[in-house]
Amino acid sequence: MTDMKTIAELDRASVLHPFTQLKDFATGRMGDPTIVTGGQGVRIQDATGRSYIDGFAGLYCVNIGYGRTEVAEAIARQAYKLAYYHSYAAHTTEELAILSGRLVKMAPGKPSKVFYGLSGSDANETQAKLVWYYNNLRGQPKKKKIISRERGYHGCSVVSGSMTGMSFYHDHMDLPFPGILHTGSPHHYWGAEAGETEEAFSKRRAAELEQLILREGPETVGGFIGEPVLGTGGITPPPAGYWQEIQAVLRRYDVLLIADEVICGFGRTGADFGCTLYGIEPDLVTVAKGLTSGYMPLSGVIVGEKVYGVMEDAADRIGAFSHGYTYSGHPIAAAAANAVLDIVEKERLSERARVVGAHFQKQLKERFAQMEIVGEVRGVGLLGAIEFVADRHSKRRFDPQQKVGARISKAARDRGLIARAMPHGDILGFAPPLVVSEAEIDEMVDLAYQATKQVMDELARQPA
Ligand SMILES: *Cc1c(COP(=O)(O)O)cnc(C)c1O
Repeated sequence: MTDMKTIAELDRASVLHPFTQLKDFATGRMGDPTIVTGGQGVRIQDATGRSYIDGFAGLYCVNIGYGRTEVAEAIARQAYKLAYYHSYAAHTTEELAILSGRLVKMAPGKPSKVFYGLSGSDANETQAKLVWYYNNLRGQPKKKKIISRERGYHGCSVVSGSMTGMSFYHDHMDLPFPGILHTGSPHHYWGAEAGETEEAFSKRRAAELEQLILREGPETVGGFIGEPVLGTGGITPPPAGYWQEIQAVLRRYDVLLIADEVICGFGRTGADFGCTLYGIEPDLVTVAKGLTSGYMPLSGVIVGEKVYGVMEDAADRIGAFSHGYTYSGHPIAAAAANAVLDIVEKERLSERARVVGAHFQKQLKERFAQMEIVGEVRGVGLLGAIEFVADRHSKRRFDPQQKVGARISKAARDRGLIARAMPHGDILGFAPPLVVSEAEIDEMVDLAYQATKQVMDELARQPA
């Protein structure tokens, strides 16, 4: 076997890592790559033999935990039987048909069909094409603009990266793409005026959306995309009444609603889908991450009856639906998804996320809410975040140079906990596997508390 020093050298010499400061990595300033060698339950191991609680389930995806042999066996069974066939021109496999039937049965809205990709990003790329296609087919060729929210996260490809509402995902890469617009973020802590209630703030955001649609011309706005709970933009549940207000505006102007359930889907919030929890009735739904718990790459675009009906009706006139990938509906990924959904159902992981999630939210609030450098503790189910500020009364942020969020995340990691320093502000984010126990939650929260305390003490010694 190749020794780990060689692996680290090969990696540094040849991997272009996503979201990595290239100079820090190339020069060794940020140390060696972490070589992850194994995982079991909520923990992963690295090549030095260290074990960590993975408080972020990889990237919010390993909901069933690591090392589930049922899924490994399902993958192997399918690989031995038939590793690949495509799904073009009405070809299918047993696992693909079964998975699709399950998704149409369980998904929110009025699902009709599922289109498959390999990532959340490519699925949202498909969503944009469907909005354009649908409006072309029903004779509304100008109705093409898509509105997303500031702080929304929808991926990193050309259109999905444009939908993402954070400028550092656009800078130096010629995004956003024309026709993708942004409206205000549903972030009460940062967005509300002094004394503004959540309900009033939600109404204001809906009014702003309406103004944007009217300014652009409703005949030019085709779709709206949002995550039920803002994820990478800060792990922020919607303010009270938000989705009701927003949906009323979208219906008024005949704008399709795309629910990006990539994080929320399959139990993360304590409900099967974020849409169920917040009363969202989407026309189109994006799923990925939890669909396979990261055991294989797979995403789905769940197309509702309204959009699908127009597509089928046009087919005699325009011919085949001309969109697809070599690996759309890959049978090994479908087999993995079926095995994962078996576990999600058998172990009732949505319900578990609700119950253990309530304990988690309570612990986070109890331990952190009163700390001097904590502005807000928020979350739902097994999604949580702590927002750090220099002054909790005036909500003054820390100087970004102090890298407070990153330092707390690093201090947690030194103690054996992975909690993510979210990119937009000084935020520590949590999204543990849904199989996490209450004892593991307590351990996680305690390690995060110690890490925060350490950095708070450092800051007190060397004030800004
Ligand atoms: C991760 C994520 C995506 C993008 O998924 P990838 O598989 O990374 O392309 C899209 N939407 C949301 C809400 C996500 O969290």
